[in-house]
Amino acid sequence: MTGKHAQSEEPRLEARGVTMRFGGLVALSEVDLAVPAGQIVGLVGPNGAGKSTLFGVLSGLLRPSAGRVRMLGADVTAAPPQLRARRGLARTFQHPELFASLTVREHVALAHRMRHHRRRILTDLFDGRGLLGRADRDETEHVDALVEELSLTEVQHQPVLGLPLGTSRLVEVARALATDPLVMLMDEPSSGLDVTETEALAATMRKVVAERGVSLLLVEHDVPLVLGLCDTVHVLDFGQKIAAGTPEEIRNDPAVRAAYLGEDVDDLPSGGELVAPGGELA
Ligand code: ADP
Ligand code: MG
Repeated sequence: MTGKHAQSEEPRLEARGVTMRFGGLVALSEVDLAVPAGQIVGLVGPNGAGKSTLFGVLSGLLRPSAGRVRMLGADVTAAPPQLRARRGLARTFQHPELFASLTVREHVALAHRMRHHRRRILTDLFDGRGLLGRADRDETEHVDALVEELSLTEVQHQPVLGLPLGTSRLVEVARALATDPLVMLMDEPSSGLDVTETEALAATMRKVVAERGVSLLLVEHDVPLVLGLCDTVHVLDFGQKIAAGTPEEIRNDPAVRAAYLGEDVDDLPSGGELVAPGGELA
């Protein structure tokens, strides 16, 4: 996804003038955000800024009070999550939602089958072959490739129950990628991970985007991670978008510095986590 092709394509996912009110509270005020082809876009902001609300609006869990959501130029504002998934939107969850008794490989295979051979799951169940009957060559090849790409080869036959959180998160990414998405939304992918696991995840996401041309939107409180990984970063504060730009531009933006008052942002992304005005981690 480079050059002309990427530039001529409509954004894969886009929020235009999105406003979200909860009673009298304005959680989002006329927010614009675009996720272009093959890019990693970050969304950061202090606690309560509206990140999760925007994530909900983009994924289809929340209907905005005003504004539109588009995928490749098509209006999906009223489309439920399943319809957006069929159009190529995948998401991972902050708390991995995996089936404890299935193996790593079975998770990836099931996601692939749900997307590409949905009817077979039903006929297999109906004919007593179980949830995961024999795999065809296409499925085997796709699953092999994903398992290897996400460094899951060694654990592929283990049940997901008992896997370290960092590994579970990679399983979730593999599962999302098995649906061949155009865009992946990731909600706080680094939460609960240690530094080594976070670095491994970041390296994997870089590789996946480069090799598959998928676009990513990360909603993250780990600002150094976002600045180190993303092509474009959007910053929310009290429901307003206060800045958008390259990591370099964001690092030097006075409004961003003010929103994250009290922290030295000069050594980002190598420095520690930024602290929001209330003293909580953003
Ligand atoms: P963030 O994810 O950036 O921490 P949120 O999107 O969760 O922020 O919240 C933004 C604001 O909207 C907060 O003031 C929060 O209390 C409020 N909010 C979020 N969801 C709801 C809801 N379902 N009902 C009422 N207020 C909500
Ligand atoms: Mg949140």
